[in-house]
Amino acid sequence: MRSRRRAFRSRGRIVAWKEQNLNSFSDLGLAAPILRALSEERYEQPTPIQSQTVPYALAHRDVIGIAQTGTGKTAAFALPILHRLANQPRTPERKSPRVLVLSPTRELSSQILDSFRTYGRHLKTSVTLAIGGVPMGRQVRALIGGVDILVATPGRLLDLVQGNALRLDRIEILVLDEADRMLDMGFIRDIRKIVAKLPKQRQTLFFSATMAPEVEALARDMLNDPARVAVTPAATTAERIAQRVMHVERAGKPTLLAEILRGEPIDRALVFTRTKHGADKVVRQLGKSGLAAEAIHGNKSQNQRERALAAFRDGRVRTLVATDIAARGIDVEGVTHVINYDLPNIPESYVHRIGRTARAGAEGVAISFCDAEERAYLRAIERLIGLAIPATGGPAGGERLAQATAQRPKGQPRAGRHSAAARGQNGARSGGKHKARQDRAPQDRAPQDRPSRDRARQDRGRKNSYNGTIASVGFLQS
Ligand code: AMP
Repeated sequence: MRSRRRAFRSRGRIVAWKEQNLNSFSDLGLAAPILRALSEERYEQPTPIQSQTVPYALAHRDVIGIAQTGTGKTAAFALPILHRLANQPRTPERKSPRVLVLSPTRELSSQILDSFRTYGRHLKTSVTLAIGGVPMGRQVRALIGGVDILVATPGRLLDLVQGNALRLDRIEILVLDEADRMLDMGFIRDIRKIVAKLPKQRQTLFFSATMAPEVEALARDMLNDPARVAVTPAATTAERIAQRVMHVERAGKPTLLAEILRGEPIDRALVFTRTKHGADKVVRQLGKSGLAAEAIHGNKSQNQRERALAAFRDGRVRTLVATDIAARGIDVEGVTHVINYDLPNIPESYVHRIGRTARAGAEGVAISFCDAEERAYLRAIERLIGLAIPATGGPAGGERLAQATAQRPKGQPRAGRHSAAARGQNGARSGGKHKARQDRAPQDRAPQDRPSRDRARQDRGRKNSYNGTIASVGFLQS
């Protein structure tokens, strides 16, 4: 497995999956210019979601793909779409794309656009982006000029339709990406409005990390006799991670963090904050307490990030403070502690974060600070992982800190639904591009990207998470 892992390590991408689905891209029957692009990208083999989805998609079947970002799901839909457009080329009609890809956020949409451009670089296929937060003029002009593939967020898409810059009655293929997140973000009505404008005769590729009842209902309404494929979500080694939550006032967090870092036998601690600004602040506060730490986040230059990582890796700096997006590039063995200084607002991020410890058979500790405003996040996380994270006290008191980092007590469930062990499968690396979105402060979001304030809906949506049929393990890390 190790050598296989190494074989797939290319341009910072790490692939780890069970030794199955080992067919090649040419076995999938993809057009030569696409194979060329894939080989230039050094993609050696399709990931499980790709090898399962592509044949159905090429056979014009509707597909439900249960997979998260990081599994290679973008290529799973982009490759067969490009193949079809390459085999059935047509001059794009004004305002009438042939393919519509809907995604919940600007970042994800931009990444999808890049993927189409990368895999389709030797084709004549045209692709454009319609997302909020930027002027509409360029998007309108691109659509009027005619485009094969449109990647869009729902709000802007509807604005373009209403502004008569876009028609949806010639769509041949619809992709709905991250359907569960679309619902969480309150896009259900927009999606239904959009789907109502599409031709009934079309192919629909529907991707979701989870299949809660609302997502199933949407899929039922949108898809026609779909094939169902699934890969595991971000598997963790949760059973080897001692998880604790410490309820603390926001103002008490710096002191608590300093106490933990001083009082614990920590080799390497990865501290997570929700925002870049927050990460810098934590580093400054630790500095005032005489504790050296480095921050890595999107505002740091590549050099700064690499220096910080190197210092963390070789033990010169024991504490690295990171945002979710920055952390996706961190592949450091020997992280003994993950500390969630802020709880993530996206529950899956919790799983990604704590998966940074307890690697390679080691045991790890995950401590989460939870202030009054974060309780709803905590509830959503507990619902997702299927266990109540044991709580210990606030800042003062070594005893409580010791408890917080003690091993899992008897009686604590072994692992949540989220764990690989719960499924009898190997843990796979987690991570993925979608964290870019999670990292943003709410005020940075475009209006159509703004998450629904209705946490209850989100909670409901998450309820039956990860109950889909699990076919295989597959995770990539960018
Ligand atoms: P995604 O799940 O689509 O966000 O993909 C995650 C990352 O995996 C991206 O950086 C892709 O470029 C990369 N990737 C996708 N498919 C493959 C593959 N078959 N081999 C290697 N890397 C891949």
